[in-house]
Amino acid sequence: MIPGVRLVILGRQGSGKGTQCVRLSRHFVVPHISTGDMLRAAVREGTPLGKSAKAVTDAGGLVNDEIMIGLVRERLSAEDAHERGFILDGFPRTVTQALALDEIGGDRGVELAIDLEVPREVVLSRLLARRVCRDCGANYQATGRDPRPWICDNCGGDVVQRDDDTTEAINNRLDLYETQTQPLIEYYGRSSRMVAVGGTGTPDEVFDRLTRAVETTR
Ligand code: ADP
Repeated sequence: MIPGVRLVILGRQGSGKGTQCVRLSRHFVVPHISTGDMLRAAVREGTPLGKSAKAVTDAGGLVNDEIMIGLVRERLSAEDAHERGFILDGFPRTVTQALALDEIGGDRGVELAIDLEVPREVVLSRLLARRVCRDCGANYQATGRDPRPWICDNCGGDVVQRDDDTTEAINNRLDLYETQTQPLIEYYGRSSRMVAVGGTGTPDEVFDRLTRAVETTR
């Protein structure tokens, strides 16, 4: 049996991190835990969390650390994460969250953090063209000659622009990434758990780099 992995994937929004995390999760057979997906599900379902998070996520802000830590603590206590590990996507986003995660994980905590590096100018244009399936979350890139209505190839759901993919919200998220999330590179670096992987090139090339980065550190 292949042992599981316990990874954190950092990277600017639009770095392709979500798609790569899905592939990594299949490859290593561990749950992909995306806090963005969890929040979007809560918004769709109209739960109290969803109602309070909607305005913050639409503006590209960060949801309160305490709420996010509670959400991740609960998810990590599930059996699959306990047995196989996890690929965390979108969490931690602040040093407070990283400290809490180390406390939650204990000796079964994060073994490696990977920074998927893609320059800001590249992600900005990708994010403005990003379209997602409302139902399954599949990602598409708009070309200006897109079908209307746009139906997802995967599941038949509606393909739309996310409410938080406006120019203003995108710039806000990218600024927050620099001030709040980039310090995590230093945080994980201090405990020798940090590795940088180039995020430009074809999705297959990036995936190969990521799996190699994980395998060489085991
Ligand atoms: P993107 O798709 O832009 O990479 P995500 O899907 O990870 O971003 O998250 C969408 C939004 O959800 C974020 O802009 C933020 O408002 C909120 N969010 C997700 N994860 C966290 C977190 N760990 N801490 C605070 N807010 C979060």
